[in-house]
Amino acid sequence: MNDKIKLLLSIAAIVICGGIIINFVSSSSRDPDQLDGGTLFKCTACGVEQLIDNKTHGQFYDDNPNMLGQAMVCPLCEKGKLASGLKCPVNGCFYVQAEQMADGRPVCPKCKTPLP
Ligand SMILES: [Zn+2]
Ligand SMILES: [Zn+2]
Repeated sequence: MNDKIKLLLSIAAIVICGGIIINFVSSSSRDPDQLDGGTLFKCTACGVEQLIDNKTHGQFYDDNPNMLGQAMVCPLCEKGKLASGLKCPVNGCFYVQAEQMADGRPVCPKCKTPLP
């Protein structure tokens, strides 16, 4: 094998590895539980649904390290805690936790529609 082929092969290997790493990083950064741009929360006191992005969420715990492991305080009323929630894909109802039907399938607790 001459040096030129060796060089080409090593360049090809670097390009392929780089592509795999980029693919891995971009796919692992997608969290299926999170909506685009953040997570939906509902305040337990004022009841306002709000989308908190990851940066705001992380910043809160940076500023309030004593709150780690607890729910974030509502930035609107500063009284309630924020419960992370989900939106019903059928009617757009907001719920914190899905209910289960007798057969174990998840169901929206508001409109009682089975969730996909
Ligand atoms: Zn609130
Ligand atoms: Zn629903």
